[in-house]
Amino acid sequence: MFHILAADRVFILTGAGISAESGIPTFRGAGGLWRNYRSEEVASPHAWRRDPHLVWEFYSMRRRAAAEAKPNPGHLALAALEHTLHDRLFLCTQNVDNLHENAGSRRVVHMHGELFKSRCEDCDRPPFDDPNTYDPPAALPKCDCGGQIRPHVCWFGEVPYHVDEIFRALNECTIYIAIGTSGVVEPAASFVAHAHGPDRPGQGRAQTFYIGPEEPANSAAFTKCLLGKAGQLLPNLFLCD
Ligand code: NAD
Ligand code: ZN
Repeated sequence: MFHILAADRVFILTGAGISAESGIPTFRGAGGLWRNYRSEEVASPHAWRRDPHLVWEFYSMRRRAAAEAKPNPGHLALAALEHTLHDRLFLCTQNVDNLHENAGSRRVVHMHGELFKSRCEDCDRPPFDDPNTYDPPAALPKCDCGGQIRPHVCWFGEVPYHVDEIFRALNECTIYIAIGTSGVVEPAASFVAHAHGPDRPGQGRAQTFYIGPEEPANSAAFTKCLLGKAGQLLPNLFLCD
């Protein structure tokens, strides 16, 4: 059990693993391939330039799968934690699904974007809600300006969103917890080293924990790894002052 004291500030990073028990496949686990494509082959600027129909078909499939998924006890435990800690919890997710929100989390920072949003490639119209699917042979969606509409997700090789806000929160946290993330996708894989690092302005090192069924690639950077499924470990993990 984690005892969270009144002075603690908690940074939580979630990855695909927290949604695995809701039936959304992780990229690296079984079921991570789509029609024999690796994720990099359909979630990259290169793939978009080569075959936008294929990319939209992939995201249409993911929209359908995520629309059917329900939050699991792991998501619910983090929503309850926010209810207790308010702005002393910073919840950052690499996931593009909306299961944290569906569980009741109100302040979720989606560093890799959101599956149910799209944006125009050309104009500065902000990302907008878009639950639609665009399967071939349907035409690709176009903006009023004539530009192509693309999924509002951060593809391999692109810069994640909200990075300044995330590093401010990493500087301030006293407890850092990563859940269900393999520790190979940057920059998220380096967050633990930053939180635990000696050179945070005005702070000592945060305590760092990992939760998931197997040790992540960056396990050496954690104070402790708790091995098990998020949906089983998280509901009884937190004791707050
Ligand atoms: P990953 O696929 O690389 O790794 C998933 C991790 O989850 C593994 O370490 C695995 O051990 C762990 N895991 C599996 N079952 C779990 C469980 N029940 N409880 C806790 N952990 C469990 O995922 P990643 O590290 O998040 O990085 C891959 C990228 O793929 C991310 O950028 C993310 O945006 C994207 N992605 C998102 C979703 C989603 O939105 N749900 C799904 C797949 C991939
Ligand atoms: Zn436009």
